[in-house]
Amino acid sequence: MSKTYRCPACQNEVDRGAIVCSNPACRKELAFCSHCRDITTYAVVGRGVGRFGRDRFRCDRCERIGQKCLTWAAGGYCNGLARTGDRWDQPLCANCNERVGELGRTVVGWTLIGAFGGLLKPRK
Ligand SMILES: [Zn+2]
Ligand SMILES: [Zn+2]
Ligand SMILES: [Zn+2]
Repeated sequence: MSKTYRCPACQNEVDRGAIVCSNPACRKELAFCSHCRDITTYAVVGRGVGRFGRDRFRCDRCERIGQKCLTWAAGGYCNGLARTGDRWDQPLCANCNERVGELGRTVVGWTLIGAFGGLLKPRK
């Protein structure tokens, strides 16, 4: 059940974890949307508002709002946009939620809790 992911701008085949399109003529910024579970381009729709002061992005495929997954925001290996705008914001994207579930909240979990603590401090 492996799926081929493509850059929505140029249809170039890209890795699920790609942050930038590998097509030298395109080079669009890419992210993995937790809403439509696909690689997408995105637009910034809000800067640093809300409880955690993270930027908000709109997925160009499903036009729903997400924000950078906590792993990504903390500099980890992730390109996911976490869901937001539902009943509550999810700090992690769909990929990382799965990963944390698999590892049973061990190493990754504690790393993320540390990152979370850092993000709770007010930004200047
Ligand atoms: Zn592209
Ligand atoms: Zn989407
Ligand atoms: Zn993530």
